[in-house]
Amino acid sequence: QKTIKNAPGSNYAFYNESIREQMFREIHIADRMGSALAAGEFIVYFQPKVSPYTGEIEAAEALVRWKTSEGKMIMPGEFIPVFEKEHLIGRLDQYVFECVCAWQRRLLDEGRMVLPVSVNVSRLQFCNADFVETYAAIKKRYQLPAGLLEIEFTESVLYDNWERLTSIVDELHAAGFTCSIDDFGKGYSSLGMFKNLNVDVLKIDALFFQQLEQEEKDQLLVNSIIQLVRQFGVKTVAEGIETQKQVDMLKEMHCDFIQGYVYYKPLPQKGYERLLLQSSPQTVKEIMEACAI
Ligand code: C2E
Ligand code: CA
Ligand code: CA
Repeated sequence: QKTIKNAPGSNYAFYNESIREQMFREIHIADRMGSALAAGEFIVYFQPKVSPYTGEIEAAEALVRWKTSEGKMIMPGEFIPVFEKEHLIGRLDQYVFECVCAWQRRLLDEGRMVLPVSVNVSRLQFCNADFVETYAAIKKRYQLPAGLLEIEFTESVLYDNWERLTSIVDELHAAGFTCSIDDFGKGYSSLGMFKNLNVDVLKIDALFFQQLEQEEKDQLLVNSIIQLVRQFGVKTVAEGIETQKQVDMLKEMHCDFIQGYVYYKPLPQKGYERLLLQSSPQTVKEIMEACAI
């Protein structure tokens, strides 16, 4: 839905109250970011990635939420686009990354099990020449071994400059990170990129699964994507999976991991930690209920 309409024959834009409100809101959000960061209002949630073959949690994705001082929870869909527009997103991405590193360090120090965690990196980080260096330095500071951290790039990054992405992926590998392509299929996807791009994981967007059960064409498409990238040694994650039937179909297609409400919603750190410590279905249910947002 367009917010500004040019009426035929007129040369002025139609501007209404809701646009004004939206603008105020955006300015307010952007203004508050620095103080919110300092006040620890950004909170990292973790959504497990599960093997559909064993039902075990294999890894997680870090997803940010903003809990304001008034106790209101703001979802990333509301503030990430504003931070991107204002070029503030790099600081937040880095903050989330550092929270994840600190957490993994603590678990290692406590002798606990540590599974890989992926973090989102906005495409604007590509403008930052020190991006890999900065992330590698943080990882090194926390002395985290290779294989525990994954960087998720959105597909739209590719169209900006995918030669640069190729070299960034190589540098990240050298620094002990794994790399994934996020939201595959949401934009102008091309399987051709796998010829040159050395990524480890492909995250297939939820869009492909909405009609998976009914639409044979979607099944053919998803199956072909998975089979093709597997031959390049790329693992697959199916995103936004909500039903057991979808899980069963994806298992037949040899999809490696499932990330979706069918297994777990994103959980706060404490809830995720508790989940990793135990395995009784009853306790899992209780944790999920306690963490429901
Ligand atoms: P994403 O990276 O594609 O993350 C997956 C989103 O899908 C999450 O939304 C997750 O809660 C939601 N989801 C997972 N499983 C299901 C399901 O079965 N059904 C449905 N309906 N939704 C599911 P969330 O947490 O609201 O995040 C939205 C987007 O915000 C993320 O999409 C990501 O693009 C962005 N984002 C989140 N955290 C960060 C961050 O730290 N940095 C950056 N740059 N972006 C972030
Ligand atoms: Ca992601
Ligand atoms: Ca995604």
